[in-house]
Amino acid sequence: MATPQTVIVTGGAQGIGLGIARCFACRNANLIIADRAVEKAREAADQLRAAGATDAAALACDITDRGQVDAMVEQTMKKFGGIDVLVNNAGICPFIEIMELSPEVWQKTIDVNLTGAFHCTQAVARRMIPRGRGGRIIFITSGADTLTSPKQVDYAAAKSGLRMAMVGFSTALGKYGITCNAIAPGMILTPMTAFHWEIPENAALLKQRVPMGRIGTPEDIGNAAVFLASAEASYINGITLRVDGGLWGITPI
Ligand code: NDP
Repeated sequence: MATPQTVIVTGGAQGIGLGIARCFACRNANLIIADRAVEKAREAADQLRAAGATDAAALACDITDRGQVDAMVEQTMKKFGGIDVLVNNAGICPFIEIMELSPEVWQKTIDVNLTGAFHCTQAVARRMIPRGRGGRIIFITSGADTLTSPKQVDYAAAKSGLRMAMVGFSTALGKYGITCNAIAPGMILTPMTAFHWEIPENAALLKQRVPMGRIGTPEDIGNAAVFLASAEASYINGITLRVDGGLWGITPI
């Protein structure tokens, strides 16, 4: 049997992060669920072991705090001896109209979605480089890396920045065999978006807009992450893979 990959998923206690972790668990990975919601992360780790993970552990980590990120990476190294894959998934989307948005909420959106991924990527890459075995870093961005609306100005500013941070890291880390790529999910049913898609009229509107005619699942994103972390994807670096059922190509009218 192949050596299991060691994978860190930030914000992996629920939603897309948990779906990504489940897909890696099916491939017998060692998993670290790094989330600020540590109780939920522990439950997730139990689920992941039952789903086939070689091992899974929860670590409390607020990715906006560099000290906590460094400690989480150290604990992962201690437990598994190395890191093969980092998935920068943790994110927030306050959905507040830009003219009503406070400076504090603006800053928090940037801190979690953009600066948090910088902390995690730098801390993990500093461990991957001396190990000499390359690595995979996956950034969960969004269609808001390029498009936006009045309630997602802070989010789009962060996600478009995250897309370029991913490209920048790909140029810096490629020579070490570390690839950096993004997955831009379409509309995925998770605790972040449930309030919106559970309204029948919104769900109906969605069916009309998405060429595949359905909302995405966290596992749709997880399967793409497993591919980007696979040997088959070893020369893919600096791209954004849109996993959105074709939504990207549709004009509004
Ligand atoms: P959820 O809100 O369902 O899950 C996000 C997880 O991240 C939660 O467990 C949350 O913990 C955790 N988290 C938030 N802030 C931090 C932090 N500072 N440090 C550590 N963990 C944190 O979101 P989704 O699963 O929907 O989204 C996951 C990613 O996918 C995000 O980056 C999002 O922007 C992106 N995305 C989602 C789409 C969708 O349709 N759902 C579409 C496009 C992109 P807590 O519960 O404590 O907040």
